[in-house]
Amino acid sequence: MAHGPAFAENYRPVPYWWEAAPPDTSAGDALPPEADVAVVGSGYTGLHAALQCAWAGRATVILEAEVPGWGCSTRNGGQVSTSVKPSFAELSARQGPEIAEAILRDGQASLDFTERFIVENELDADFRVVGRFHGAHMAASYERLAREIAGTNPAFRTNAYMVTKREMATELGTDAYFGGAVFPRHASLDPGKYHRELLRLCRDAGVQIVPKCRVTELERQATGFRLRTENGALRAGRVVLATNGYSGPLSPWHRRRVVPIGSYVIATEPVTAALMDRLFPTDRVLSDTRKLVYYYRPAPDRSRVLFGGRVSLTESNPDRTGPVLLAELARLFPALDGTRLSHSWSGTVAYSFDTLMHTGEDAGLYHAMGYCGSGVGMAGYLGMKTGRRAAGLDGGETAFDRIPYPTRPFYRGSPWFLAPSVLVYRIRDRFGW
Ligand SMILES: Cc1cc2nc3c(=O)[nH]c(=O)nc-3n(C[C@H](O)[C@H](O)[C@H](O)COP(=O)(O)OP(=O)(O)OC[C@H]3O[C@@H](n4cnc5c(N)ncnc54)[C@H](O)[C@@H]3O)c2cc1C
Repeated sequence: MAHGPAFAENYRPVPYWWEAAPPDTSAGDALPPEADVAVVGSGYTGLHAALQCAWAGRATVILEAEVPGWGCSTRNGGQVSTSVKPSFAELSARQGPEIAEAILRDGQASLDFTERFIVENELDADFRVVGRFHGAHMAASYERLAREIAGTNPAFRTNAYMVTKREMATELGTDAYFGGAVFPRHASLDPGKYHRELLRLCRDAGVQIVPKCRVTELERQATGFRLRTENGALRAGRVVLATNGYSGPLSPWHRRRVVPIGSYVIATEPVTAALMDRLFPTDRVLSDTRKLVYYYRPAPDRSRVLFGGRVSLTESNPDRTGPVLLAELARLFPALDGTRLSHSWSGTVAYSFDTLMHTGEDAGLYHAMGYCGSGVGMAGYLGMKTGRRAAGLDGGETAFDRIPYPTRPFYRGSPWFLAPSVLVYRIRDRFGW
């Protein structure tokens, strides 16, 4: 299909990660009549939750509406950070210093957990501790970032340090930033390979995985739940909701707390090694101080650039957003002008009204969700914690159990306010306030 000059001949509107780790389209398991634990959703949250349950000897089934990993978990940018967006000062003002500290501690624990899990289980996921460079898109943003890092308790600073505009050449081949901050402990991985490895561990542990099996109704019974699905019914003692940005009408209480927002990514066609080394002298993952953040990185083999962000007011088609993202990439790195797209795709992240992730339980119904676009490490970590609770094991508590999961009056799960919010953020990014 002809798409225009921005598109390479072999352009595909699917995640670049699906080239090395294609979606698992096998028939999967048949729906069993009952299980100790039913996990709804097969992303990092669901797979890590299921693993804990299966390793503890519980009969565990994962029900997935599409194919395994259909959601964000094979579509993301592969950046592994501490995930918590609000600063200690903001969290303290909202929740008090003790909970604020516990939240930041969970952020760090999610990073440590992800690294340890991948190393100990010898997962083939291209995991590397490369650090993250966070660029200041305005001079005032640089000052704000420096103040924030200096004001962070050293225990939570993860050795972050500032890089001035003059020192920038060691980080990035662009004049577009006013310096930035390096977070040396942050990491990168290949999201598709990571998901494929988790799926393998689940199968090895005896988890039954039922694809094309959307759960349409959840009914509480005297003991446990009856789940109605597209493939029939199932009884389960406990249920884990791991549906994140794809949470639909199944549980209205959760839907009223999830703000689904599309995030869009492109991959360029291959660029020369010399150009890659000039523009990206390190393997760091990258982000910036815009409200509508750009996140990007070299591909694991440094063959091309992957660049993501939000460039449309309303949800859009990756064929449309691809050229817009490519133009933004070329604005930041003029040497990439004329480079074409090989892939363009999107996924739906789950924002929450307090920009925090949430875990909790309501009499046997567990949830972990709301990663606000930052869940590669955190979703696995909170999935693991939630799985421990669902399996009746110790060590499943998190700081996020201790805070309310807010909604807004009249909000039913359809974010009518998205377009005006994106517009306001665009203006704020332009003028730096
Ligand atoms: C484009 C993009 C870039 C991102 N980049 C980064 C990044 O670089 N770093 C980072 O930390 N985070 C990033 N994220 C966020 C991160 O990918 C997510 O936070 C994480 O993958 C969430 O995992 P999850 O398992 O909770 O949800 P998902 O992986 O989204 O899985 C939810 C699953 O639930 C299924 N489901 C929903 N309803 C039902 C139902 N009723 N019955 C059965 N199944 C159902 C869906 O089909 C879906 O497969 C990005 C996200 C996107 C979209």
